[in-house]
Amino acid sequence: MIDTHAHLNPSPTLPLTGQGENFRIAGLKAVILSAGNLKDAKENLVLAKTNSIFYPAAGIHPQETPLDPPLKNGGNTIDMLINELDKMVEENDNIVAVGECGLELNPSKSPFDRGDFKKQEILFRGQIAVAIKHKKPLIVHSRKASDETLAILGSYNNLRGVIHCYTGGKKRIQKVLDLPGEWYFGIDGNLTYEDGLVEVVNNIPKDRLLLETDCPALTPIPHRGETNRPEYVKFVYEKVAEIWGVSLKETEKIIDGNAMKLFKI
Ligand SMILES: [Zn+2]
Ligand SMILES: [Zn+2]
Repeated sequence: MIDTHAHLNPSPTLPLTGQGENFRIAGLKAVILSAGNLKDAKENLVLAKTNSIFYPAAGIHPQETPLDPPLKNGGNTIDMLINELDKMVEENDNIVAVGECGLELNPSKSPFDRGDFKKQEILFRGQIAVAIKHKKPLIVHSRKASDETLAILGSYNNLRGVIHCYTGGKKRIQKVLDLPGEWYFGIDGNLTYEDGLVEVVNNIPKDRLLLETDCPALTPIPHRGETNRPEYVKFVYEKVAEIWGVSLKETEKIIDGNAMKLFKI
């Protein structure tokens, strides 16, 4: 099993000492560490040194888009973030992906409305450029912005990656598959309690499906209400095995193969 999207930045609820070995004992082969900002990305690099089960990603979440006006000393804050990200990816060969990055048009949860959407797009395109330059896959976060995200991704030929926590519904699956480059769908623990996602999974080609926790959020049944953990990705694997009507072993073989192919791990 591979958790292709975890946030393990140190917290009182998840002390990290020895966690890598615990995850291995729990049956995980790898954990991809997503980054919400550059501080997370640096912590991911530190965590990756503690155990070879961890594969770090580096990127900036759309909710972290700087709201400051452009600085006077040349460049603006978005440029500065992109330059720092570029340098980090350049200097750390073990970074397996750029992300998470993307668009979020969810005013109830973030300070962004369509007025700030342009800034999110600039930050997103900047990270796409870093991914292309360093030939890394992209971990895309898209919330209430599926069509806008697909329009941007569709304007690049040499890009591959995953639409993590896919919420585009059945109707956009073909649009994702039609994008230039190779694109995967990341499905999370909400598959265990959102019936609509079962049909979505049924329509995603087996060779384009990845499973993830997005921990500490989206805890699957039977642990709902608790903090999510990478090893709980097992419950998502079990649900997919049930949907596909194949054994858990066969499911693992297919899903893990997809993750290893995309992230080159
Ligand atoms: Zn996300
Ligand atoms: Zn995430």
